[in-house]
Amino acid sequence: MIDFKALTQEYKTPLYVYDFDYMAAQYDELKEAFRGRKSIIAYAVKANSNLSVVKHFAKMGSGADCVSIGEVRRAFLAGIPAYKIIFSGVGKSDDEIREAIERDILYINVESAAELERVELIAKELGKVSRISIRVNPNIDPKTHPYISTGLHDNKFGVDLSTAKRMYILANNSEHLDPVGIHFHIGSQLTELDPIRESAEIVADLVRSLQNIKIELKFFDIGGGLGIKYDDETTIKPYDYAQAILGCLTALDLTILCEPGRFLTANAGYFVSKVLYEKQNGTKKFVVIDGAMNDLLRPSLYSAYHKITAVTESTSEPRPVDIVGPVCESGDFFAKDYPLPELNHNDLVVVHSAGAYGFGMGSNYNTRGRSAEVALENGKARLIRKRETFEDLIALEKEFLED
Ligand SMILES: *Cc1c(COP(=O)(O)O)cnc(C)c1O
Repeated sequence: MIDFKALTQEYKTPLYVYDFDYMAAQYDELKEAFRGRKSIIAYAVKANSNLSVVKHFAKMGSGADCVSIGEVRRAFLAGIPAYKIIFSGVGKSDDEIREAIERDILYINVESAAELERVELIAKELGKVSRISIRVNPNIDPKTHPYISTGLHDNKFGVDLSTAKRMYILANNSEHLDPVGIHFHIGSQLTELDPIRESAEIVADLVRSLQNIKIELKFFDIGGGLGIKYDDETTIKPYDYAQAILGCLTALDLTILCEPGRFLTANAGYFVSKVLYEKQNGTKKFVVIDGAMNDLLRPSLYSAYHKITAVTESTSEPRPVDIVGPVCESGDFFAKDYPLPELNHNDLVVVHSAGAYGFGMGSNYNTRGRSAEVALENGKARLIRKRETFEDLIALEKEFLED
């Protein structure tokens, strides 16, 4: 049991709390599932990009999957070696591509024919060879929320099979490109294995057909997306996941790359707020807390469900309430008609599963400083990000006031 009361007395609210031991256990379970095969787990930094979190994974031997050069820099700062860093994303700028090549990362995940051209040109300017992988869009419905589905042709991600093949041939003939990998990532919060297996089979077939024309890849990058329990979902077991992937790779000698984000960090995280007041509008009961959508956007953005518990002396029967923040938007809520007991000023409300796509999606909307972040490891708590102050928020504007 985490002592949220003690933590918030020391670090105030709203507060993010991350259980580092839980993250380590998740990492170990996934790594173990691929035992006996060459594999790299490349933590998807966007899920939770706090430097101490990334360093925690670096110490376990993790690589990093990055979607901006900023994330690549974070990975380096946190101690992840270049040969375990990959750079993905549909829209990389020339500067980002240049820096990735100069830093000699494992490979750039290319997402379009036009991008491949840019990478080749920039590598040529630098007099270097850029290792690349191509993100294939297998056109498989991942059966997840449409906003986090990425493997269908009407999504912006990746290229279709025939385009991929043409790109591999082009890359293979280029002096400045070295095609080393193939990549797919069909979506996030995946809870069914069949779409993953089907995608892996399609992509493995492409690897074989490339072998036939003497293009030998080294890395089979299965993306991330492993779902977690927010509520009572049935999730995929890492062992079954690994078996399904390995089943598609018979006679192929490839290093598996896996890019989990949510799976590693989501259920390690808690977002803790204080109750400001309760109020009633007509028949509707609201609990107003000091955390808001600028701290944790997922409920507002995707109507995401998060389990919520209260730390209170109250012994009243739970009744349905809307749990809302102070931001001036009707979309500023954490849950609707959620059963909580009657709460008092300064009771705590804990939003669970907040370790992925929580803090990182935060903003300063309504001139609210972002929360502090705290790590729990071996029974000890430590600050890993300070609470933002008003001074932090205006630092880049202040100088323009002088007239
Ligand atoms: C977001 C993302 C991931 C991580 O997704 P999770 O659902 O958090 O595991 C992995 N790979 C790529 C390319 C991504 O964009």
